[in-house]
This record gives sequence, C-alpha cells and structure tokens, in this order.
Amino acid sequence: MEERRVFRGLLRRYNIVIQLSILIATLSSLAFYNYNTQKRVLEQQLEIDTENIVQAMRASINKFAAINRTLSLQNRIRDISLGLDIFEFRFLDDSGIIMNSMFKEEIGTHFKRPGFKLQKIILSEKGKFYTDVRDYTPVLAISQPVFKDGKLVGVIDLAVDISEFKYPGKQQMDIVLNRMKVDIGNLLNAMAGSISNNLRVFEALDYDAYLENYIHSTLNIIQVTIMDEQGKVYASSDTKQKGLLMPVQNTPPKSMLRQGDQPVYRIMARLDPSQKDSEKLLMMIDAEPYVANERRLFMTALATGISTIIFSLFIAYSIYRINMDRERKEKVRLEKMVKERTKEIELLSQIDKLTGLFNRRHLETVMASEFRRAMRFCHELSIIIVDLDLFKIVNDTHGHLAGDEVLRVTGKTLLNQLRDTDFAGRYGGEEFVVLLPESSSKEAILVAEKIRKALESLTIEYEGIPIPITASLGVSTSTDEIADVTEVLKQSDEALYQSKENGRNQVTLYKPTT
Ligand code: GH3
Ligand code: MG
Ligand code: MG
Repeated sequence: MEERRVFRGLLRRYNIVIQLSILIATLSSLAFYNYNTQKRVLEQQLEIDTENIVQAMRASINKFAAINRTLSLQNRIRDISLGLDIFEFRFLDDSGIIMNSMFKEEIGTHFKRPGFKLQKIILSEKGKFYTDVRDYTPVLAISQPVFKDGKLVGVIDLAVDISEFKYPGKQQMDIVLNRMKVDIGNLLNAMAGSISNNLRVFEALDYDAYLENYIHSTLNIIQVTIMDEQGKVYASSDTKQKGLLMPVQNTPPKSMLRQGDQPVYRIMARLDPSQKDSEKLLMMIDAEPYVANERRLFMTALATGISTIIFSLFIAYSIYRINMDRERKEKVRLEKMVKERTKEIELLSQIDKLTGLFNRRHLETVMASEFRRAMRFCHELSIIIVDLDLFKIVNDTHGHLAGDEVLRVTGKTLLNQLRDTDFAGRYGGEEFVVLLPESSSKEAILVAEKIRKALESLTIEYEGIPIPITASLGVSTSTDEIADVTEVLKQSDEALYQSKENGRNQVTLYKPTT
C-alpha cells in the first residue's frame, strides 16, 4: 500500500521526464528506422543496377564475340577464297553447335540439316565432296573434321556456288569440279590451320580494345576482366591483368572494396549464366555515388535525431518554466492573501465591533505597555473612566437598539476629543476608558471635562425621538508608588463612584483617603 503510494508519487513527479523520454525514443527510432529502410532500398537499387550492368555487359560481350567470330571468318574466307564463290561456311564444335558462321543468327544454335550425320563425318576423319541443291542453287559441298594435336576441334561445313557451271557437258563439268575440289581443299587446310591455331588469341586482342573502349564510354565502370573456366585472364580493360590467374573460388560474388580513396563495388559473374563452368566476368563499379548517398542518409537521420532531442528538451524546459512561473505567482498570491487575512483577524481581535474603539483586551495590552514606557522615562500617565448615567433607563424607554446607537455615538464623540497619542476603548457595557500618556492630573481633568460637556450637549435621535445623555467620569494619574497599571484603573473607578454618589454628570479626580 505504502509502496504503491510512493510509486505513484514518483510517477507524478517524473511524469514529464518519462513522457519526454518516450517522445525522444519514439521520434529517434522513427528517424533511424527510416534511415535503415532507405538504406535497404539503396542497397537493393545498387544490386539491381549492377545486375543490369552485368546483363548488358554479358549481352554486349557475347554479341561482340559472335560478330567478331563471324567477321573474322568472313574476312578470312574472303581473303583466301581463291576465286571461289562461297555459298555457305560454318564451323561446328564436336557436339554440333555452330561456333562460327557466315550467318551470324545461326551462331550458338545446333546445326540441323536433313541427312547430316556428325558422328559419321568425325569418324571418317576426312570430308567427302558432294553436290547438292540449296535454296534453288546447285553447290559443291564438304563437311571436314578439324584436328589439332590429334584431338578433334570441330567440323568445317562449306558449300561453293556452282550455278555458273550448270550448262556445260558432263565431262567439262567433271573437270571444273575436280579443279574446284583442289581449291576447296587448299582453302580448308588454311582455315583448319587458322582455327586450330587458337582463334582465341586473335579474339582476345580485340577483346582488350573492346573492353577498354567499353569502360571509357561508361561513367561508373572502372574495370572489366574476362577469365576462362580456370580463372585465367584472357581479356581485360586493364592490360596488366592479362594472363594472371584469379583466385576465382575464393572471391565472393559481390563485395565492397576500397582502392585508395575510391570505394569500389566488385562483382564476379558467369559470362553465360546457363552454364556452370562458364567463363567468368569480373567487374569493378564505382561505388562513390552509393557511399555518398548512404552518408547523406545517415547525416539526415542523425540531424533528425539530434534536433528531435533538442526540440523535446526545449519544450520540456518551456513547460517547466511555465509551471514554475505559475507556482511562484500562486505562492505570492497565497502569501498576500494570508497576510491580509491575518491583519484582518488581528484587527478584529483588537477592535470593539459596536463602537469601533479598542476592545477591553487590546486596551489592557496597550495600558500595560504605555505604563511600562511611562515608568522607564519617568513620565506621568492618566486614565479616565467614562460611565453613562442611568443607561438602563435609556434601554428600558427606547429599546436596546436605541441604546446601541447611543453607545456608537458616544464612542465617536470620545475619539473626537482626543489627541493622536491618546487611546480610547470600550471597557464594559456602557463604560469607556481613556488613556492619556504623558499627561498630568490637571491636563486629564481638562480632557475629562471636555468629554463630559461634549456628551451633555449631544442630541442623539433615534427614530425621530431625541435621547439626551450625560456621563460620570473618574480621573486618576500614576505616581512613583504605583507598580501596576490596574492600580491606576482602580483609582479612576473609585473617583467615578464618587461622581455617581455626588449626583452624576460630573468629573472627579481620585484623592487618596488618609
Ligand atoms: P448608573 O450607572 O448611572 O448608576 O445607572 P445605570 O443604569 O447606567 O446603571 P447600570 O450600570 O446598572 O446599568 C447599565 C446598563 O447598561 C445595563 C444594561 O442593560 C445596559 N447595557 C450594557 N451593555 C449594553 C449594550 O451593549 N447595549 C445596550 N443597549 N445596553 C447595554
Ligand atoms: Mg455602568
Ligand atoms: Mg451607568
């Protein structure tokens, strides 16, 4: 129970701190969540971008290779055609895939021709000439296996247009064909030599130029390198890489590197994704824009976080200030109120409600302190007691309210007769005391007489009926022998009694009886 109260108290006290902490934590984590999300988007974008670059590169390289092969073959054929009108030329690998062709759209496809038996041709080791009609054109054709170091490299498929020789007689035709067979044989030998003499070396030279050209024409690609199945570089935009053996197995497919100050994104991909052991493509892409974007994202998130905290603290401080201000103002207001109330209560406890004069209690306090002062400075002090004459009759004749009115007017009249330094109070029902500090008996009698005359000449009216009044007064003055103010008061009372005895409406000075 007690603990719960304490806990609730703590909660109330640190409420603002708790709320602010929650606000800061929420806003900051939102900022960093946003940063992370955007960073992931950036990373995915980079992946997509590089994948696109690789795709484009792949397509470009394959196309280049195909065109290069075709062109180089066509050039070769044209160079050494020996005046033959070549109708078809292609080179197949040992599985029948067209590696090179005069017709570039064929390259990479499986060679198909009715009656063509690859296995039979390979086994024969030497091609056989035959005549055929292709696309309405008579041709002399041959399929010739090509060996290098006793190993089969592929098959050359060649056809020569012989439509020019359509009409001569059979014998003449045979002569023409036989001569042609010799020329074709020579051509085939030259081609076979060229093909088996590592066509790749020739192509690689062109590749380098091509790759170098490629990276110069693109903004963000730094390097492109092509390796064979074993990881040996056979073409690169950076000629220093040429012939090096790359640790293909140990290279992760994608990674971020640094080359000096420059951040680099490194990608390893297969040149032909459909083949597991294809040649490898190694690319270096400038990652500076990506890194810059990431840095900018991070700075934004950081700035958001920091400004959130500053903003929250500022709000907290403002709330704190407002609360403090309100509390301080409230405190001042309360203090002022308490002061006013205290004064009021104090005054109420000193004043007689009916007449506005000092009440008996305050009068006694004042008398005591004035008496002490008078003793200390050896001053005289006089006390007058005023008692209305036959007041009972006033009450009985005119009523209690009329009596009250008489008392009020009497109080005012008393005050009018006094100096600033004198005090007047209501001592009892219709009994008043006047205190005259620093006054002798002589002076006191003068004041008392003044009061008596003033009261006598009053015309108090109550509900249109005049009420005449008089008062009897007793006067006494302190002497060296008197040690207490009540003694002086007693003497005044005795003098008052004398006034009453002697017929009322008069002033009597106390005289000690011997
Ligand atoms: P005397 O002093 O001249 O001998 O006659 P007295 O009639 O004044 O005598 P006493 O002192 O016996 O009577 C005082 C009367 O004053 C009694 C009481 O009814 C009246 N009285 C006292 N206090 C008040 C008051 O506050 N209001 C009114 N209206 N009357 C009061
Ligand atoms: Mg009396
Ligand atoms: Mg009286």
